[in-house]
Amino acid sequence: MVENSELRKAGLKVTLPRVKILQMLDHAEERHMSAEDVYKALMEAGDDVGLATVYRVLTQFETAGLVVRHNFDGGHAVFELADGDHHDHMVCVDTGEVIEFFDPAIEKRQKEIVEEHGYELVDHNLVLYVKKKGA
Ligand SMILES: [Zn+2]
Repeated sequence: MVENSELRKAGLKVTLPRVKILQMLDHAEERHMSAEDVYKALMEAGDDVGLATVYRVLTQFETAGLVVRHNFDGGHAVFELADGDHHDHMVCVDTGEVIEFFDPAIEKRQKEIVEEHGYELVDHNLVLYVKKKGA
């Protein structure tokens, strides 16, 4: 199973909860899940993994670089698989829905602004808080 080798590569022992949670993050339609979301999805799938275990495993995954944690305003921390592709996020303030986007013009402009200040860009995290038009 691909999950097993991913765990080993990250230096983590293969345990059933770790495999289940990694599979869930890999196959869920929603790429950004809170610990509660993962817990509920596992329950619905008939997998009996406690919420405390889900928290612990997600934190281990974060430390191992398997997932990225986002602390968006006004909600629980959400986790997504670290697949290497840079993207930014929009968060709907009404529903908490997370939308990913990538805009070359914004990326370029951010670099320019940083350089105008005499720095070079190391990393960035752009979050737009949004609401549906007309809602
Ligand atoms: Zn994302």
